[in-house]
Amino acid sequence: MTPPPTRARTPPVPGDDVSVLGGLTATRRRALSRLGVETVEDLLRLAPRRYEDRRHPQPIAQLVEGSTVLVIGEVISARVFRARRGLTIHEAVVADATGEVKARWFHRGGWMPRALQAGTSVALFGTVKARGRAVELASPAIEHLPAEGEESEDGVPGANRLVPVHPLTSGLTAPVVRRAVWNALPAADALADSLPPERLAALGLPRLADALRALHFPDRLEDAEQARRRLALDELLVHEILLARRRRNRLAERAPAIAVDARLDARIRARLPFSLTEAQDAVVAEIAADLARPHPMNRLLQGDVGSGKTAVAAYALLAVVARGHQGAFMAPTEVLARQHERTLGALLEGSRVRIETLAGGRRGKARQEALERVARGEVDLVLGTHAVISKAVRFDDLGLVVVDEQHKFGVRQRHDLVAKAGDDRRPHLLVMTATPIPRTLALTVYGDLDVSVITGRPPGRRPVETCVVDPARQGREVLDRVRAELAVGRQAFVIYPLVEESDKLGLRDAVDGRARWARALPDHRVGLLHGRMKPEEKETVMAAFLSGAVHLLVATVVVEVGIDVPNATVLVVEHAERFGLSQLHQLRGRIGRGTVGGLCVLVDRSKDQTPARLEVLAATDDGFEIAEEDLKLRGTGDVLGTRQHGVAGFRAARLPRDLPLLGHARREATAVLDVDPGLEDPVHAVLAGLVAARLERAERTESGG
Ligand code: ADP
Ligand code: MG
Repeated sequence: MTPPPTRARTPPVPGDDVSVLGGLTATRRRALSRLGVETVEDLLRLAPRRYEDRRHPQPIAQLVEGSTVLVIGEVISARVFRARRGLTIHEAVVADATGEVKARWFHRGGWMPRALQAGTSVALFGTVKARGRAVELASPAIEHLPAEGEESEDGVPGANRLVPVHPLTSGLTAPVVRRAVWNALPAADALADSLPPERLAALGLPRLADALRALHFPDRLEDAEQARRRLALDELLVHEILLARRRRNRLAERAPAIAVDARLDARIRARLPFSLTEAQDAVVAEIAADLARPHPMNRLLQGDVGSGKTAVAAYALLAVVARGHQGAFMAPTEVLARQHERTLGALLEGSRVRIETLAGGRRGKARQEALERVARGEVDLVLGTHAVISKAVRFDDLGLVVVDEQHKFGVRQRHDLVAKAGDDRRPHLLVMTATPIPRTLALTVYGDLDVSVITGRPPGRRPVETCVVDPARQGREVLDRVRAELAVGRQAFVIYPLVEESDKLGLRDAVDGRARWARALPDHRVGLLHGRMKPEEKETVMAAFLSGAVHLLVATVVVEVGIDVPNATVLVVEHAERFGLSQLHQLRGRIGRGTVGGLCVLVDRSKDQTPARLEVLAATDDGFEIAEEDLKLRGTGDVLGTRQHGVAGFRAARLPRDLPLLGHARREATAVLDVDPGLEDPVHAVLAGLVAARLERAERTESGG
């Protein structure tokens, strides 16, 4: 497909600001900027999310409810009218040789799009809905079709072909982005390839300029996929180059060397209430070796829920504190930070180690004084949420940071740690996660971290029985089981899904749920915990549950990670269908912590008859297997909780699908860096440019939130 002759405009070049493309108001440019698009090249590299197949128009007489169709016809009439609540509705009747169909759009605003003038030829693409006895098209995309011999309004192909739908954000519509991309295409020819043609040929990939045309306006889906892989190659090359560099830089970074000799080792172990498992021992040895070096440790500790990561963290923190440095332990929630405070507090009973928890409940003067004590080195262990490493918290001599259950701890946060150790030294870092990231993926995403894995669980733990239930048929049974457990003095969690903190409906569900459970269990105390409660309220409820004063805790997902209440044996998850498998597995980790087994009830309220997804949980207790399954079903973004930004900022690359390509990229990157580590040779100018652009983008998006 040849781009249109650009009318009265000089052709764009890749480095131009997108404003040269026309049709992009300041608002739209800001929206593009949120997608990381500033220049024409950025836009060209914005891979479509999907393609709409608009090659096969459907005769109007044959429209079937529920299908997504392309209709080509002529506008017979159109009108705009006001409905309730000031809503404006556009309605058009479109006809082809076989019949007529109504299309309706709900907009705010009274203008009539030009394409809807009577007599205009249009392509409508959308879903067929029933309306009374007839069918209509619900808010279809409209494309104005040029009359024969007439040039289309803007020349952008929108019908009779595969049409790209690009990533969007508020303020942008698919046609706007498509038009901008179309106008940007002439700049593609000026883009040089990052690898020489023979290397690309060896990988079976097209040249960039060809790839970009096929990416946005492909003739066949296979061409689009090949083009996507060509773009993915560049992303993966840059990724591998950055990883390789970071590995090299680490040797230039300094950290306090902390030696753990046999005496200290024995002292620390004496404080633990159990002896470490073999798996914990192995990880402790790896960590001790890292700490002894004058370069910062960067270690990711993966261990399934309940595998005993906290004890490993405690070991490392105690070692660092014993050698006169400070330690910080960050948890994702305050509830969890408080739990760590209790665990560590118990271990350190009678010692001289000073612990301070920086929680949100602490404000004003008390917090200020705590901060000052930390800065003066009068506190040895600082606990809290991520606020612990914010700029406001200054340390005297921070030797180790442990980040619990936060696999998203990024490069930038790591960067913030620099200088916290004083004398240009950076503290050691241990990131712990129960999100069982498959090993292949871990190496990709955390390629510059060393990975330790705790396999298995501490002895004495019983498996959790898991069942998926249909509330209509088995609701009674569930209640009986819960009642039976509570009757013998055990405790239970009931979890409600919450899409986000501000999800009012989810909150309602939990509040109503608490009332219902309280009515059903008049002899027991039922508590409620959710993210909108004040920190002190949460603390009170958690304490009551821990002490056994509250028997059943209804909670939103705030309890998801890390809470340790050994006496809780039952977990009921409401609307289990709304959770990811890995998330459910984490939730299930809340029970079966003591020496009695546990029961996990997944209430499936989806009315569909495909419970297979949830059944995976009933079938296995292996978090890794579950994560692989999740990955297959939902893609990497969901597993890592980074769907918005893509893994490591990838836009075109898809993992694990592109893992083979990643391997190629690693080899190519190593080959290049071996001969030209600084990417200074002019033959590597394109790569150097891509690396610089990637760093700049990371800076922009991270500082912009
Ligand atoms: P997670 O890895 O999910 O953070 P925790 O550190 O909370 O797991 O440990 C889960 C439970 O196992 C806790 O109750 C803890 O006290 C217990 N535990 C940890 N290590 C051992 C061990 N070596 N022997 C016995 N119990 C252990
Ligand atoms: Mg934990």
